[in-house]
Amino acid sequence: MRKLFLSIALLISCVFNLEAGYNLSSFTLKNGLLVVCLHKKTTPIISFSVWYKCGSAQDAISKSGVAHYLEHMAFECDKREFSDFLESVGAESNAFTSLRSICFYEIIPSEHLEKIFEYEAKRMTSITIDDAPFLSEKGAILEEWSMSIGSSPDGSAGESLCANVFNRTAGGISVIGWKSEIESLQPQDLLDFHKAWFAPNNAIIVIVGDIPDLKKIKNLAEKYFGNIPKKEILRREEDSSRPSCVKEITYASPKVSNTSIEYIYHVPFSHLKNLRKSLALDLAISVINQPDSFTRKILEHDLKKATSVTFSYTKGYFPYDIASIGIESSSLNNRSDSEKICTYLLKKLLLSGIAKNDLETVKKQKQLAMAYKKDDIGSIAQHVGHLLSNEYSTEEIQSMDDVIQSITVEECNDALREVFSLDPVVISKVVPKGYDRD
Ligand SMILES: [Zn+2]
Repeated sequence: MRKLFLSIALLISCVFNLEAGYNLSSFTLKNGLLVVCLHKKTTPIISFSVWYKCGSAQDAISKSGVAHYLEHMAFECDKREFSDFLESVGAESNAFTSLRSICFYEIIPSEHLEKIFEYEAKRMTSITIDDAPFLSEKGAILEEWSMSIGSSPDGSAGESLCANVFNRTAGGISVIGWKSEIESLQPQDLLDFHKAWFAPNNAIIVIVGDIPDLKKIKNLAEKYFGNIPKKEILRREEDSSRPSCVKEITYASPKVSNTSIEYIYHVPFSHLKNLRKSLALDLAISVINQPDSFTRKILEHDLKKATSVTFSYTKGYFPYDIASIGIESSSLNNRSDSEKICTYLLKKLLLSGIAKNDLETVKKQKQLAMAYKKDDIGSIAQHVGHLLSNEYSTEEIQSMDDVIQSITVEECNDALREVFSLDPVVISKVVPKGYDRD
């Protein structure tokens, strides 16, 4: 099955009840830096992450990939002295870039907390980019491009989908960027991005685990970040309106043997502004994808066995959220076949809705998944940091699990109808070479 957007969707749909063993506290420095601490008495290990509220949506025109490139190069800011230190204490560290944020994180023994503050403050204030590491990193990034897009049918289809559907000036490009634009990026482009976006008032620090008392954290934050001046942040508007016409994209590849077609729908409500409705849609789609649910059995009853159908919901990856129906089949010969399946499925789904029992099962699964994950300080840091960098409040994050448990089957079905009653905005096909186009 195509998993174009699945990893992002999963990342966002994990649920944690932060009341379960965590004490959440937060403070903001005078320069606007928000520090959120989730304290839990465990082994003396902490997860430290810094989230900059800037991602590929803020790449300058014709300089796509600059946010991601900077993420790679920001490890070079002290000639790898810090990387060597992290290695010597057995720490785990990494970074990633998304549409709206760049995150750097470390998982380290608590005793090294001060060193992390010191280094992350350095990364915020200054980076130097020498030619040799810049060029060698460009090679690594182009290799990453080749693996995730150039030689991947799904990646290539996703890239052309971004370019065709979303406004180029508002995130209409994959995070890694266009190959030709990555090739032409210069060190100064990265320095300009750093200068514009790396500022205390555009950042959030999330510390999770066995952290010392809040007073000590406040002192360290003040000592290392307190004197960094705030900057004026000029954020580009994102265009989240529904496109006026349906676009169809076909990508033919000799690497695939089955035809897969994805019907992509504009979600008229944002997960950032309408949390409850977004969680209802999330639950509904989880129910539909359950292999044994009553809903699923009804949907698949008349379909050929060789046909697989997956629903997905992708939040925060494009200027507007999308939901999709992916259909893959070896016997799918042309568009009218898939259209018949899609129309049939939706008619049944919108008429019957999901079943209440199935919803209760999914809620229990989410609760159980949370029970497993609550001990994983890294996962909790990712979850909380992601939501905070998307402007959720700490109160909203803390109450999220209770909200999920209170959502009714009617709310789920209303959310499904709101999204899937209108036509899709994109039909994206990945087909074997020699596919019968009609
Ligand atoms: Zn990368």
